[in-house]
Amino acid sequence: VAATGALAVSLAACSGQAPGGGDASDSAVDCNVGISMPTRSLERWINDGEQLQKLLKDDGCTVDLQYADNKTDQQISQIQNQIAGGAKILVVASIDGQVLAPVLEEAKKQDAVVIAYDRLINGTENVDYYATFDNYKVGQLQGQYIVDTLGLDSEAGPFNLEPFAGSPDDNNAKFFFSGAWDVLSPYIESGKLVVPSGKSPATTDDWASIGIQGWASDKAQAEMDNRLSSFYTGDEKVDVVLSPNDSLAIGIEASLKSAGYKPGADYPVITGQDADKANVKAILAGEQSMTVWKDTRALGAQVFEMIKEIVGGDEVSVNDTETYDNGKKVVPSYLLEPEVVTKDLVQSKLIDSGFIKASDVGL
Ligand code: BGC
Repeated sequence: VAATGALAVSLAACSGQAPGGGDASDSAVDCNVGISMPTRSLERWINDGEQLQKLLKDDGCTVDLQYADNKTDQQISQIQNQIAGGAKILVVASIDGQVLAPVLEEAKKQDAVVIAYDRLINGTENVDYYATFDNYKVGQLQGQYIVDTLGLDSEAGPFNLEPFAGSPDDNNAKFFFSGAWDVLSPYIESGKLVVPSGKSPATTDDWASIGIQGWASDKAQAEMDNRLSSFYTGDEKVDVVLSPNDSLAIGIEASLKSAGYKPGADYPVITGQDADKANVKAILAGEQSMTVWKDTRALGAQVFEMIKEIVGGDEVSVNDTETYDNGKKVVPSYLLEPEVVTKDLVQSKLIDSGFIKASDVGL
């Protein structure tokens, strides 16, 4: 509803735009799009940005795509430049979901429509839509995978679990953690899962206490090194690691390997998310158990649809108007479905669909 107002204003603003020829009502908003992505250091964001840019350019839109090197100030100044360059639609995958309110205030002064991409932007009215995968479901899938793989509903166990959470400044991280923890915590209460390091948040609200800043692989590795050397002396072994995504999993796997854990012998169950190539290789090598695959092409296609609807002055497709409260409003959202990929699904899900090439993962 809020966006309809913005569109109406933009229609007026754009009406001088098609002198003589076109009917201004063809286009409610100029297809001039600024895309702001967090970093090039993770494969998924490179794919995300480039795919969306291509869809838009092929459709005749003006596009400015920027990556911010995981630095908040850089992201803010890139968005400021896009606003100054006349962007009418901003697509932002935020680094820190808390700090963009002032720059989005500037965006609204020129009636730009703002789409939060993958990560919610908090504390501002000035975010019109949110497109993402169902983040809570990602965590649920990781938790349920652990329950099923260890057979926690049978007589098996108890098992030693080491849980990790994502970057404290990323709004998604708490959804991933709560999805997983809501599945796993009953087994911690019943004693089927034990956390020798004690890094077991008492409630899901305490998740940030085990968060890894910036989703950094090296920080996850250092944390796992500490846990292994302090709490796994003697015969104690890690049976399972809850890793919220692939970049953390890579660091945790490096730590396990250097501590002497061997696939096929004493290697723990370990979860992930994103289906990054390095992790798919690890899955094939038995060094990672699963990844939650989010087909970023589908997210790009969905955001492209939303942009076309905005440009056409049509109602924008959303399928969730309850979940994502950013502290100022519940942001109308489009949630896509994530899915589990294990070793036996790499070919059918990831390769046959063209998400990755067989040669990228040594097949
Ligand atoms: C994304 C994940 C990604 C993580 C680190 C999250 O917000 O949803 O797909 O692994 O950020 O970049």
